[in-house]
Amino acid sequence: MLPDFQLQGRRALVTGGSRGIGLAIARAYAAAGAQVVLLSRHEAGLREAAAQIEAPAGAVAIEAMDLAEVEHIEARYAALLERHGPIDILVNGAATSGRGRVLDMPVADFHQVLALDLSSVFALSQAFARACIARGVPGRIVNIASLASFTAVRTPSVAYASAKGELLLLTRQMAFELAPHNILVNAIPPGYVETEMTSAFRGNAANEAWRQARVPMQRWGAPHEIAGPALLLASAAGSFMTGSVITIDGGLTAVL
Ligand code: NAD
Repeated sequence: MLPDFQLQGRRALVTGGSRGIGLAIARAYAAAGAQVVLLSRHEAGLREAAAQIEAPAGAVAIEAMDLAEVEHIEARYAALLERHGPIDILVNGAATSGRGRVLDMPVADFHQVLALDLSSVFALSQAFARACIARGVPGRIVNIASLASFTAVRTPSVAYASAKGELLLLTRQMAFELAPHNILVNAIPPGYVETEMTSAFRGNAANEAWRQARVPMQRWGAPHEIAGPALLLASAAGSFMTGSVITIDGGLTAVL
């Protein structure tokens, strides 16, 4: 591997690291020499995920935390640092697709989706950035956005689209405010990637026909296809990138 892509001596916290895109990113970071902390809600899933990552003993740790409980994030992040040591790279990958239509989604459910998909990203990034600044070290934040960050989507996802749209502006505002501290903040909006989150979409013939006609590469993306650009954004190779948005969608947004 080119030296600029190595992550030796760095520790990455990957939220949503128990499966799908988060797990693929954690695997790539571990392969680049990082220590990784996988975070999601349930310890059992985290243990299974950690066992799937090839890494030296002690290089993969787990942390069970419900990020939807936004008001606890600051204190829980402090406890996480006590347990695992300082974090240099934060990947905000945890999210829920939180189905709901404009006309019938209860407002409380809308807020619940925004709590995880947007507010928790702010709270965790704030805690991470403050800790980096207190240590006097640089940091990287990688936000996993969505095509729903750019356009409306065909699935009933009013809260998800609202959160993911806002996530791009949050990325840019954090990039601007944190650049003087050498904390670089970027976003990756993936297109259609084969994970648990998109399993319902795959079960729907009309959706599948639409995707097949619409995606120039005519296939689903695989989680590991998001991991390479995520490694770029975490490593020295991405040292002049902040506020950038790297779309990975098989060409979907390149064409009307
Ligand atoms: P996934 O459902 O497989 O994984 C979601 C992860 O988030 C899991 O690890 C889950 O445990 C964790 N999580 C869910 N609720 C949580 C909570 N309250 N607290 C802590 N962790 C929680 O989904 P995925 O497809 O791998 O999605 C990863 C990211 O990629 C998400 O931000 C998603 O919006 C984004 N994304 C996915 C696609 C796709 O096609 N799969 C497309 C665009 C964007």
